[in-house]
Amino acid sequence: KSLAERDAQLLWHPYTQHQTADPAIGITHGKGSYLFDENGKRYIDAISSWWTCPFGHRNKKVTKAISKQLQTLEHVLFGGFTHQPAVELAEVLTEILPDNQRKFFFSDNGSTAVEIALKAALQFYFNKVEIRPTIIAFEDAYHGDTFGAMGASSISIFSEAFQSMLIDVVRIPVPVKGQEEASEKALKEIIANKKAAAFIFEPLVQGAAGMVMYEPEILTRLIAICKNAGVFTIADEVMTGFCKTGTLFASSQLGVAPDMICLSKALTSGTIPLAVTSFTDEIYNGFLSPDKSKALFHGHTFTANPTGCAAALASIKQLRKKSTFKKVQKINGLHLAFAESLQHSKKVRNVRVKGVIIAIELAVPPQDYYSDLRNRLYRFFIENGVLLRPVGGTIYILPPFNIKQKDLEYVYLMVERALDKFVD
Ligand code: PMP
Repeated sequence: KSLAERDAQLLWHPYTQHQTADPAIGITHGKGSYLFDENGKRYIDAISSWWTCPFGHRNKKVTKAISKQLQTLEHVLFGGFTHQPAVELAEVLTEILPDNQRKFFFSDNGSTAVEIALKAALQFYFNKVEIRPTIIAFEDAYHGDTFGAMGASSISIFSEAFQSMLIDVVRIPVPVKGQEEASEKALKEIIANKKAAAFIFEPLVQGAAGMVMYEPEILTRLIAICKNAGVFTIADEVMTGFCKTGTLFASSQLGVAPDMICLSKALTSGTIPLAVTSFTDEIYNGFLSPDKSKALFHGHTFTANPTGCAAALASIKQLRKKSTFKKVQKINGLHLAFAESLQHSKKVRNVRVKGVIIAIELAVPPQDYYSDLRNRLYRFFIENGVLLRPVGGTIYILPPFNIKQKDLEYVYLMVERALDKFVD
């Protein structure tokens, strides 16, 4: 039996029940921007496997660092113990994150990084005997699918069954062009009327919403408003982090640094699952009490797993290199030229570019997240050897930074063919 057939007997996949009735594709190996299936078919991974593999698959430096770490220490509990890769990674994070990020909590994935930030904000005020039960988030947000992160998320298919159990979240419009004032006004109103502990957002690009983009100036204003009101700001950089928006972090483009930052995905270049929540000293100090009764009672078995930390160190070393930014700039230039070529197409409602991300919104009626059109587009790309996962009526590309120009041009060509085939 094929991998796909054996899989179909036993395994659940994220969202695939919604996606298509097709069997999963059995992948045997990956190399650079390519994935290969069990029939020998090659796919260009044009979404970096959910935005996670900035150097494509099997990056030599990262896999080598993992093998080396496995020779000395694969895992140790982080309760009361520490080790070189964790300490070194924390030190490197102080160098690359905004200056106010001084303390770090390691966990396993984007959802847990967000969960920790939300809990820290809520408990910070609890420790001060000032109950602030509300979290502010953007409309159409996705921050993960553990309970807290799911509460902060608003894409309803993920959470409608659990509505009554979710944390108290109020939403403001995403400040895309023309919506900046409405967003600012809504934030001010909420702050005046609710006891808000934190505002969580994806800086500059809302990934799962379909790569919705907005400018750093308005986010800087929103953060400043929160700071004045003691509302902690949480930048969820799980998607935007590590060069995707053109700078190492999207937060680097802001005039005011957020209070907390969540990282995962590209942190280890798609090798060992790892996440970081970073904090200011102010927040960390809110958990110090002489009798330890106000500690953040949160921990994971795999917190600061040494192999994961070693992978992150090797990955960050490459992500910080000038040559990486050059690659990002090159892709950005190619995206801008492609966007320009689509600008006057009647089949395109909107096309936007930031860093290595391009989103093409088709001129079709509003679509559900996993609409029939979306599924047909997905299949069309797969048939043509390209991994793209459209969101509703939006196709986006977020390639590995080392994608070959001819492969990126092939992906553009497939997008053009899809426009011809699927949009009237
Ligand atoms: N935050 C954002 C912005 C994300 O895009 C995602 C995942 N797509 C998450 C959090 C959750 O990350 P994970 O799937 O690793 O739990």
